[in-house]
Amino acid sequence: MKVPSMTPVTTFADRRVALFGLGGSGLATARALIAGGASVVAWDDGEESVARARGEGIPTADLRGEDWSGFEALVLAPGVPLTHPEPHWSVRLAREAGVEIVGDIELFCRERRARAPGAPFVAITGTNGKSTTTALIAHVLGRAGRDVQMGGNIGTAILSLAPPAAGRVHVIEMSSFQIDLTPSLDPGVGVLMNVTPDHLDRHGTMEQYAAIKERLICGADLAVVGIDDAPSRAIADRRAEKTVRVHVGAGPAPADGLCVSEGIVRDGAGAELADVTGVGSLRGAHNWQNAAVAVAVAQALGLRPEEIRAGLASFPGLPHRMEEVGRRGRVLFVNDSKATNADSTEKALTAFRDIHWILGGKAKDGGIFPLVPYFERVAHAYLIGAASDAFAATLEGAVPYTRCGTLDVAVEKAAENAAASGAPEPVVLLSPACASYDQFRNFEVRGDRFRERVKALP
Ligand code: ADP
Repeated sequence: MKVPSMTPVTTFADRRVALFGLGGSGLATARALIAGGASVVAWDDGEESVARARGEGIPTADLRGEDWSGFEALVLAPGVPLTHPEPHWSVRLAREAGVEIVGDIELFCRERRARAPGAPFVAITGTNGKSTTTALIAHVLGRAGRDVQMGGNIGTAILSLAPPAAGRVHVIEMSSFQIDLTPSLDPGVGVLMNVTPDHLDRHGTMEQYAAIKERLICGADLAVVGIDDAPSRAIADRRAEKTVRVHVGAGPAPADGLCVSEGIVRDGAGAELADVTGVGSLRGAHNWQNAAVAVAVAQALGLRPEEIRAGLASFPGLPHRMEEVGRRGRVLFVNDSKATNADSTEKALTAFRDIHWILGGKAKDGGIFPLVPYFERVAHAYLIGAASDAFAATLEGAVPYTRCGTLDVAVEKAAENAAASGAPEPVVLLSPACASYDQFRNFEVRGDRFRERVKALP
């Protein structure tokens, strides 16, 4: 039997710690604190979560009835509002009592400093591409034989990973919420991909949002920064030293950085470091940025050029993000169910031609108007879900379309038409530009259904 890993948190041994938020990462945090000798009082606004924790032997009590002067810290789950739209009641109680508020990654950082200072630690943030880049970096390192622990905002909670140690690399995706709860964040390599407006409901203004993202690289020994949007470029300029700048586009690479154009990653001297043009999981300019960032991190961790190239070439990609799910004859089937808005779908439409495009669901503001410039790449559109009427109106006269109602019907019709077309490599692309809630529980269920229906095709 595989023993589950854990990083016991010893820095709160014999202290009282309040913990709020008992989802997956909250439970892992409670276990890690208890294993390290802390006395935990855990709570959640959901009765079921509290009952589950109690069932595991985690001490629970309504924190509103506790004496806060005895708490050393409040450990908060990242989904619980710290500032916006307004601080959660547990945050207010902690502040009134002068109790510090931290998250699980802060506990990891303290443990690392106490037990294994200098243990390799890569932290990744950005508005877009965090998960892909985190998975790619972990894959490249793992393929080169490194002991890699991947988690944080992707997959496994950080304290459910093996403890930091010399020769073991932690590759950790961080959301803004997690950065906000990690005041002493000090990765060996800090990666900032990009900063564009998102989640402003939870962060207030764009300035506040960018400032949180900047904090990830402030404490890093080395920073890797994508410089293709104004806030990120300004952040890179403020830091200057020990920064690798990554630029997507033609033209020379920054002297102290990398540039990637048409899938080829080059250093500041113009030397070719990697070529991902033939890598199916790294199609499109957005993925070139992800690849270039992974090259910069792998270089910083001492990988050889051939190890980096082999890692990039064998990256399987993440599910639901331009995921190749199969071929039938000349027809390629691609699951891009994660594309819940026009911005994301734009990336998929620019990566292919002769597209049989399955779209629809619960539309976002603006619908698919921003995608009109890419309509010439679309052979036929297949509409599903609530947005069908609105999208039909936008497509009218520009792209032939069929109202399919459900995803099952759309897959069948698209497969048929694509196979009958004369194109050399037609693509059946699920990139809905919509949320899934009208027909599916979430985008994962939608993408899984697509994959299933493709596998079931004759
Ligand atoms: P995140 O974890 O930040 O949400 P993902 O890696 O899951 O990012 O990718 C989500 C979507 O964001 C992808 O389907 C793609 O449309 C887009 N994307 C991926 N990488 C980038 C990037 N470097 N820049 C801009 N958009 C990207």
